[in-house]
Amino acid sequence: MTPKVSRFLRDVAPATPCLVLDVDRVEENYRRLMAALPLARIYYAVKANPAAPVLERLSGLGSSFDAASFEEIEACLAAGARPEAISYGNTVKKESAIRAAYAAGVRMFAFDSEAELRKLARSAPGARVYCRILVGNVGAEWPLSKKFGCELEMARELMILAGELGLDPFGLSFHVGSQQTRTDAYEAAIAKVAMLFTDLRDAGVKLRMVNLGGGYPVRYRSEVPEIDDFGAAIMGAMAEHFGNALPDIVIEPGRFIVGDAGVVSAEVVLVSRKAKDDPVRWVYLDIGRFGGLAETEGEAIKYAFRTPHDGSVDGPVTIAGPTCDSTDTLYEKSNYRLPLALDSGDRVELLSTGAYVTTYASQAFNGFRPLAEHYV
Ligand SMILES: *Cc1c(COP(=O)(O)O)cnc(C)c1O
Repeated sequence: MTPKVSRFLRDVAPATPCLVLDVDRVEENYRRLMAALPLARIYYAVKANPAAPVLERLSGLGSSFDAASFEEIEACLAAGARPEAISYGNTVKKESAIRAAYAAGVRMFAFDSEAELRKLARSAPGARVYCRILVGNVGAEWPLSKKFGCELEMARELMILAGELGLDPFGLSFHVGSQQTRTDAYEAAIAKVAMLFTDLRDAGVKLRMVNLGGGYPVRYRSEVPEIDDFGAAIMGAMAEHFGNALPDIVIEPGRFIVGDAGVVSAEVVLVSRKAKDDPVRWVYLDIGRFGGLAETEGEAIKYAFRTPHDGSVDGPVTIAGPTCDSTDTLYEKSNYRLPLALDSGDRVELLSTGAYVTTYASQAFNGFRPLAEHYV
């Protein structure tokens, strides 16, 4: 938790549940990533946190943006981004949204299928297009495999077709999965992309860009490699496979930019047991799966907690949200322990919750208001 966030929580004591996010930390993370990968152009993945203060700060720093919908494109433009700095990175787009993006000046689009490529040829004529390929997601705590990307052979044919359809066959992309804890995931993916670069050059299509996607991790309960380790592994692999004919390098960080800038402040609603001698207490918070903590599904992302009783004797807990839905249970199997002194009315903080929380909150399931947001 940054000093600014902790000061805000102490001085303002905002109603819970809420997210408090330090925009200066967003800037620091952007600069750290730029230092780790100086040759890469950063396209911030807007979906991680699309709040205007975040987009405005990044836009002011010269960041580009990876948008997944026309609405996200509008948010980037409103924050001062130029349309040339926006990539429409979703491989699944309504044709009306492609038309709207093109009319707004966006000229870079992702695809992973022939049908999508034909939509682009019709509604974004001449645009730069890049094909997303399937790569391994081993090591990712929030995998994105299978749903997006296509096999290499198909990507090869589609990039040739792109040129024939009057589009600019610009490059290739991949995503090694979010919260990727292994640097070698990027190395393997880069090797795959490089093979296709060579194949396509032999077929007369000269690609100019590699998009390494996102995945750069944030520290939750356990240690992760430093961002410099990712930078070194990535540039090592790029040099190994491309020599000094390096293409443009694009990265699309989401979680890394905003994750550790934010803290969710929540209230303990109830601490109870299912039987008098049950050692496991149930701790119900005023935020849960439907209040924005969607990434606790399958206990995939394991947030760290702060309580007013830290350092005192603790015991095993199951942690749940406040709604009347039993899937609104956050952690049952991940060996969470919280202080025995924890009680109804206590405020707790969930650390590093700046990414993938606010926009996952439901509108009013059980009447609960969506998460409040404070940008400081
Ligand atoms: C979600 C997403 C990202 C961001 O991923 P992080 O793991 O948050 O860095 C980048 N690119 C694409 C295409 C995405 O869908």
